[in-house]
Formats: sequence, structure tokens, C-alpha cells
Amino acid sequence: MDIELVRGDITEQNVDAVVNAANSSLLGGGGVDGAIHRRGGPSILEECRRIRERSGPLPTGRVVSTTAGDLPARWVIHTVGPVHSTTEDRTHLLTSCYVESLRLADELGARTVAFPAVSAGVYGWPLDDAARVAVAAVREAGTATSDVTTCRFVLFDEPAYVAFDRAL
Ligand code: ADP
Repeated sequence: MDIELVRGDITEQNVDAVVNAANSSLLGGGGVDGAIHRRGGPSILEECRRIRERSGPLPTGRVVSTTAGDLPARWVIHTVGPVHSTTEDRTHLLTSCYVESLRLADELGARTVAFPAVSAGVYGWPLDDAARVAVAAVREAGTATSDVTTCRFVLFDEPAYVAFDRAL
């Protein structure tokens, strides 16, 4: 599996699946979540509402998929990153976001998947550590996926890009 780094907006990626840094309500938020629902249109939120009604809130580290509405991608994989904590190590939950997203992408038949820097925004994860965890997780998971050929990290600003570049 190839790992790519680009600086840009996740909603503009021509990939099979984009990963959303969602929150457990699945009912929308700011950052990546806000951008995906804004650009993707209301159908994504409608699907999220149905999932929410059926299964309740999405636990941290877990994933669900919807279609991608008006986005160039075919699917959105929603995952809930952990809020960063200085008293508790939640690395395994951040790792799970990436591993589970790639597993679901593989199950869907996606070949190309784009990730944002999960938890590195409102959820407060220090950028360098978020990048190290992300890169280690996709490297590890990449060996187990059969269909996914490309994993693209889409970094919104220069500091995030530099952190991921260093981690790679
Ligand atoms: P979380 O709540 O998991 O921290 P955020 O959406 O707040 O998620 O932020 C995650 C990362 O995504 C941050 O580095 C933020 O700058 C970045 N980001 C925000 N909007 C976009 C976008 N449209 N495309 C790619 N990355 C984005």
C-alpha cells in the first residue's frame, strides 16, 4: 500500500473513500466534519441520522460508512477520534480509527482512501504525536488490506504537513 502526503482539503480528494473526523453524535460538527457535510450535501447527514437512530452514538475508535453525496469520493468513513488526555494514554483509540477505517475501506472495495489528521484539531492531540500514531497505524494495517492500494494523508495546513512528513 502506498502512503501519500498532500496539503489540501479532504472534501476535494478524488479517492474512493474519505475519512471523516466525526464526533460520536454523528450529527455533524466543525472542522473536517463541517466541511464534509457542507460540501457533500444533506444526504450524508440523513444517512448518519439513520445510523444514529438504529445503533446509537458511535464509540471512540469505531467506524461507520455512508455514501458521499456531492463529494468526488464514493464513500465517507466516519470515525470518532479520542479527545487528547494528559492523564490517560489513548493512543490505542487513535490507532483504532486508522486501522478500522482501512478495514472498512477494504470491505467496501475502496482502493484509494484519504485521511485527515484525526484528533489533531478540536480534540487537541499534539500534531507530532498524532502524525506518528497515524503513520504507524496505516503502515501496520496496510499489510493486512487486500484492495486498498493508496492511503493519502490530507493535511490542511503547513504545520500538519510538516509533522506528517517527519513521521513518514
Ligand atoms: P478532531 O475533532 O478529530 O480533532 P478536526 O476536524 O477538528 O477533528 O481537525 C482534524 C484536523 O483536520 C486538523 O488538523 C484540522 O486543521 C484539519 N482540517 C480541518 N478542515 C479540514 C479539511 N477540510 N480538510 C482536511 N483537513 C482539515
